[in-house]
Amino acid sequence: MSDVPKHDKWICLARDKSNNKVVKVWRRKKGVDDQGNNIYKYKHSADNPNPDASPKWKCRFGNKSAAKAAMEWSESKGRAVYMSKDLYPYTVLGGGVYGNEKLTKKMNQLGKIQKRYMRLGSYKRTQKQQHDLYLKYIRGTGNLAAHCNTRYNGEHSWDQCKQYPPCASNHCGGNACDLSYYQSGRSGSYTNVGNNSSFRSTMKSLGLCLPVGGEPWHTEIGNTWRS
Ligand SMILES: [Zn+2]
Ligand SMILES: [Zn+2]
Repeated sequence: MSDVPKHDKWICLARDKSNNKVVKVWRRKKGVDDQGNNIYKYKHSADNPNPDASPKWKCRFGNKSAAKAAMEWSESKGRAVYMSKDLYPYTVLGGGVYGNEKLTKKMNQLGKIQKRYMRLGSYKRTQKQQHDLYLKYIRGTGNLAAHCNTRYNGEHSWDQCKQYPPCASNHCGGNACDLSYYQSGRSGSYTNVGNNSSFRSTMKSLGLCLPVGGEPWHTEIGNTWRS
């Protein structure tokens, strides 16, 4: 991979577990390995803060960022990463990675209006992740999943697949999120957004929709309703 766009960089706050000091961490995406995993260039230093950080600096897991990778990396350094509640206070990322910021803002707004914390299940995926899901689906061992590329229907290897990016699922572009809401608080049991008529009407007013039939959780920006 050659040029990496600027927005493939992320910054966040991390708490040093040994002394509870809060530090900034950041690094830059370098490329993608042949398994479809992101490779990062580490640039963190307490004496070398992010030059692009504004005075109003906040944790920013924005477009094309990798919240999960951030957490794992920071944990390995003995730090606990947390996301700023200032940005999307009504969202809880269910172990995945944030996608499109406009979509995230709207889902956050949905939670604010409905007075519930939103659970962002599977959000942005790599083509490799979509490939694995698609193969599970056609083998009958997984849920309905969109194509992982534009060339192959049915069985194929990752080596074949990766020659035909991008993946056909809107999850890969970060433009789809499998969305539910917690019954109470920020953890515990949760319900698909499409199961609640009040959530549905708020989604309509915010310009969100459920465009995939049989998936009353797969949320995108738009007005196509198939669930
Ligand atoms: Zn594939
Ligand atoms: Zn989905």
